[in-house]
Amino acid sequence: MKVIFHQRFYEVYTSDPAAAPGRMEPMVEELEKEFDTFDGAKPRFLNRGKKRRSVSTLSIPRGLVLSAVEGSGRGVEWVEFVEPEPASEKDLERVHGRQHIQWVKGDPMVYEIGLLAAGGAILAGEIAFDGEPAFGLIRPPGHHASAHSCWGFCYFNNIAIAIKRLISEEKIKSALILDFDLHYGDGTSNIFSNSKEVSYFHPEGTNRETFLKDLQRSLQTERSYEIIAVSAGFDRHKDDWGGLLKTEDYLSIGRWVKEFALENCRGRRFGVLEGGYNHSVLGRNVKSFLQGLRD
Ligand SMILES: [Zn+2]
Repeated sequence: MKVIFHQRFYEVYTSDPAAAPGRMEPMVEELEKEFDTFDGAKPRFLNRGKKRRSVSTLSIPRGLVLSAVEGSGRGVEWVEFVEPEPASEKDLERVHGRQHIQWVKGDPMVYEIGLLAAGGAILAGEIAFDGEPAFGLIRPPGHHASAHSCWGFCYFNNIAIAIKRLISEEKIKSALILDFDLHYGDGTSNIFSNSKEVSYFHPEGTNRETFLKDLQRSLQTERSYEIIAVSAGFDRHKDDWGGLLKTEDYLSIGRWVKEFALENCRGRRFGVLEGGYNHSVLGRNVKSFLQGLRD
């Protein structure tokens, strides 16, 4: 599976917890452990370059890039990092008003990294559409960004931008967005409130069992969609703000999303990072989710 990441996501663009120093490193490091490239080097970033290439060119023959960790007792693990390009203003305008875009532009650093985060979500969506699961390891998060306003450490609604791009390209008509962040994604919900084709779902539950049951039940009863996109926030973990889920639960959630995608979405599935603030558990939690989500 592909993980979309850019070095600029390490930059501390504001003083909020999503932009905190040292937040992205443990996630990258945890996923890097899954690599064992032929020369033992660090994972290679595949830069798509300036030229717009078809997504299929990203599908490098697996034998070439696979990180096969054999004999380690962990089986064959693999994940491959890909660097995004910034989203275009046109991509933003499918979701956000001009004034909002101009307001974010007022802080050039937030704007630049925000464009890369939106571009990361777009790339994850394109790769997923092409048949390979993908995850946008991006920040700033996006699910509290509505068309004309934002809050909660968000600026542009990354997942909505990705879905609207796929729709505008006439690749998909329908999508299910599952948001398992601790917080309700009011931005995403607002953006698609009038859409019959794009459904937003945020499971509820006051304890671990009821939350997981609600999430699972929603996937079992949902109709077919052309893609499933996950707003993956890890702040509901027992050692994070929500104090609820175990690391292994993210593996289960990833598996349920994968099973739903195989049955209802031709296997098309991707996620993007939203919340998650305890740096000491974030890496393990993200890896657990991706293990469930992947092939
Ligand atoms: Zn949250």
